[in-house]
Amino acid sequence: MKVTIDHDLCEGHAKCSKTAPDVFEVRDDDLSYVKMAVVPEKFRDAVELAVRLCPRQAIAIEDS
Ligand code: SF4
Repeated sequence: MKVTIDHDLCEGHAKCSKTAPDVFEVRDDDLSYVKMAVVPEKFRDAVELAVRLCPRQAIAIEDS
């Protein structure tokens, strides 16, 4: 799956990177980034939880 983050919404709360540290990282600019172009299915549950926990609804999953 492909995971995207809307940087116009992201405020760097880092709930995503704490929930799914293999997938997300918050960098020095206080924005979260997806660490891989295609996220393996084994991370789906963690990514879906991060989507729900993100206070800004900034994370989206695109299924191909
Ligand atoms: S939880 Fe949402 S707002 Fe916070 S760093 Fe992650 S994507 Fe950004």
